[in-house]
Amino acid sequence: MRLLLINPRFPESFWSSKWALSEVLPNKRAVNPPLGLATLAALCPPDWEVEIVDENIEPIPLEPQADIVGVCGMGVQFPRQKELLAYYRGRGHYVVAGGSYASLCPEHYTTLADTVAAGESEYIWKEFCRDFQQGTPKALYHETGTVALTDSPTPRFDLLKLPRYSYVSLQFSRGCPFRCEFCDIIIMFGRKPRVKNMEQVGRELDELRRLNVRNAFFVDDNLIGNLPVAKKLLAFLKEYQDKHNYKFSFGTEASLNMAQHKDLLQLFRDAGFGWVFIGIESTDPASLKETLKTQNLHEDTLTSVRRIYSYGIEVLAGFIIGFDNDTLKTFEQQYQFITDAGIQSAMIGLLTALPKTPLYDRLKKDGRLSTLEDVHENTRPTTNVIPKNMPYDAMVDGYIALYKRLLSDREIALRLRNKLRFLGPPVYGGGYSLRQGLAIVGRLVWKGILPGGLSRIWHFLRTLPLRKSLWPTVISDWIAALSMREFAERRLMVEQAEASSVERRVDFVRSAIGGYVATGDVTLNLQQTSAPDLAVCLKGRLDGSFFKRAAPGLERLLKHTRASVTLRVDVFQAHQLAPFQELLRRLARYGDRVHIVVDERLRALVPIDSSVFNLVLARSAD
Ligand code: SF4
Repeated sequence: MRLLLINPRFPESFWSSKWALSEVLPNKRAVNPPLGLATLAALCPPDWEVEIVDENIEPIPLEPQADIVGVCGMGVQFPRQKELLAYYRGRGHYVVAGGSYASLCPEHYTTLADTVAAGESEYIWKEFCRDFQQGTPKALYHETGTVALTDSPTPRFDLLKLPRYSYVSLQFSRGCPFRCEFCDIIIMFGRKPRVKNMEQVGRELDELRRLNVRNAFFVDDNLIGNLPVAKKLLAFLKEYQDKHNYKFSFGTEASLNMAQHKDLLQLFRDAGFGWVFIGIESTDPASLKETLKTQNLHEDTLTSVRRIYSYGIEVLAGFIIGFDNDTLKTFEQQYQFITDAGIQSAMIGLLTALPKTPLYDRLKKDGRLSTLEDVHENTRPTTNVIPKNMPYDAMVDGYIALYKRLLSDREIALRLRNKLRFLGPPVYGGGYSLRQGLAIVGRLVWKGILPGGLSRIWHFLRTLPLRKSLWPTVISDWIAALSMREFAERRLMVEQAEASSVERRVDFVRSAIGGYVATGDVTLNLQQTSAPDLAVCLKGRLDGSFFKRAAPGLERLLKHTRASVTLRVDVFQAHQLAPFQELLRRLARYGDRVHIVVDERLRALVPIDSSVFNLVLARSAD
């Protein structure tokens, strides 16, 4: 039996760290590998041939040799997941849908897949494999009971292309005891944390060691959900590393109340945790009470963050704006806190109501859900929540202005200095060899610092402390901040894509390739909707100079507006390949807004890297 498992491409967001990965870090393509698929692979019968393809680092196979194609996905991946399911099903493969969104809303997949696997996979996937081999697979496998994590196998890390990720994911627990109103984790995994045993963790670490992994990320939604067990884990991790004389550099997600336990912080430090992601959300007690995030109310948030810093552990944090209690003044409060706390990776989102959460139910009852479709991308300036105490448009403008303010060179440096004053000897040492580290610094300076001119050079230099042990922190903060800035510049801060600006730039493209348009070899069609799109259709014999002429205009359109470009290839000849690829190379930086449609007959002739561009898989007649 041959099984192909696919992790669909994510839409780009602050989380993608695209600039950092493509310009600064060596040979990396994505932040985390698809751990769920590696676990699924481990649950298959031993004689099954399993392949994992992550579209975030590599193109999907268009003609796979597979009996079953399984496509997973979170909510943000749903549009691409749908496309992939339809494509492979259309080619005659048996398709299975799974992942967190299918677990939360299996009803959305009824017509999309032959089988839907909803919920934790440990028991239901084995059942599916058995049924499939006997020729009696069911349409839905829905785990509604409790899965003991002690039954979870060691993920098939060997099937992942680990060197292409900055961290390797592993998981110790599922579930969280808290009850934040907006959270879908507790809907999926429950409020009683379940954990693996230490022997399992040891086996996973053995495998990571065998694969020479150093940077590892515990993807648990709250590693300290069960405090006594979390302490046991941390002690075990330290002991394991001492015993094998092998150092990991760990990171994880945990709730802010970790700051109340000094013994826990020491254990985190001793175990090699260099950073932790915390959902701070808001520092306004009224907003926290409203959203039932009471675990953040134990003490002043700044004091908590600084205490964590004092153990040499970095804090990355999530923030939310748009609670009922929030007003336009909230933006200033969030700015002040993020700056004082020196949090460089501040992931700010507008409050979004995810299906099946208590927040969703409440707002639906109150008639405060808008009909915007995509509610899953929480770093784009849209939400399905109609705010209570501020106009929607003013909230979106405030959101963009806040990011713009936080990502100036001066503010990046200010946050860094505010953090360094409280940071104990850092646990995080970079995780790279000296040679790799020097190469990273070189690329950061060359591609990130120098292009910012004298002002950025000055701000960078004034963040370099005398204590050399803090330099990796400074370097990684600048990489993170410039990566966020690069994304924000392309996606949030570009001039509003108002009609005249887009039209002006499309006119520029039209005049550069006017001769080809006149002969009908190319058609241009601009759709001026809320998301403008320029459709370029290649219909005739085009020489190399066409691609050279088209490239600068298309590049500028993508750079200076929020418009997208759809390239439709209806006619193509082998000699066009080199200039066409050169055109794609220039547009790759904006690949998430470039959709490429290749006539089915030409797909072998025109290879498109679907991990860079949106390769549209609809059939040509669609
Ligand atoms: S602490 Fe995090 S995982 Fe737990 S309920 Fe709140 S948002 Fe969800």
